Amino acid sequence: MPKLFVVGNWKMNTTLEEAVNLASSIVKNLDALSGIEKVVCPPFVSLETVHSVIKDTSISLGAQNMHHEEKGAFTGEVSPTMLAGLCQYVILGHSERRQHFGEDDPFVNRKVHSALRVGLRPILCVGETLEQREHGKAQEVIRGQIEGGLMGLAGIEKVVLAYEPVWAIGTGVAATPQTAAEVMEGMILPTLTALFGEEAAKEVPLLYGGSVTPDNVVSFVEERCIHGALVGGASLRSDQFVEIARITSTAKKS
Ligand code: PEP
Repeated sequence: MPKLFVVGNWKMNTTLEEAVNLASSIVKNLDALSGIEKVVCPPFVSLETVHSVIKDTSISLGAQNMHHEEKGAFTGEVSPTMLAGLCQYVILGHSERRQHFGEDDPFVNRKVHSALRVGLRPILCVGETLEQREHGKAQEVIRGQIEGGLMGLAGIEKVVLAYEPVWAIGTGVAATPQTAAEVMEGMILPTLTALFGEEAAKEVPLLYGGSVTPDNVVSFVEERCIHGALVGGASLRSDQFVEIARITSTAKKS
């Protein structure tokens, strides 16, 4: 089974001071927790400061996005090489990037390649909107995002995949564990298997994201095919993030 994961996406939240406080509290309460990969993804401007708080601990650092080019005239962007010395992970293809910044699968795919080239592990996010689900298009959309996002890769051993139904993100309405498992076991895993073979596919950590809380996380991570959570809102509260990590690390698989 792949390693268990808990990833905190802080989004466009936290001042520098708040980021330090949140990271320090997470270190204090989570450093000793073993058997699970714990990743925090602060805003770009806080990466270096948070890095100095979590270095020499068991907490890893991720960015929330990046450009695919190494350098050049891309005002306001951050390159893979800039992140490589600081981070181990980068979230790519988050639905908020797709929705508000027009990122499509070919663009996300370029980022995935660039991340791997500099040694960053991409956390590739996929998921359908409510409209797509209601029109029976969920599976087709997700399959397209996986095939498009991972196109041309020789291997997927460094890739983490997060299923985040758009209708569940930040809404307080999580998917049911059955719905998540149906997509992850019934569609994501077979798609990865078809692309990269069974051995490689079954080693990819599959995370669920969308309104995960300490109260509902157990029902997701008890599913055999779900190896952890990508957490937005609840990752801004140290006590909640810590609890989610603890529960995930001890969940019994069905
Ligand atoms: C996310 O932004 O990836 C996310 C899952 O957010 P939330 O937990 O707030 O739904």
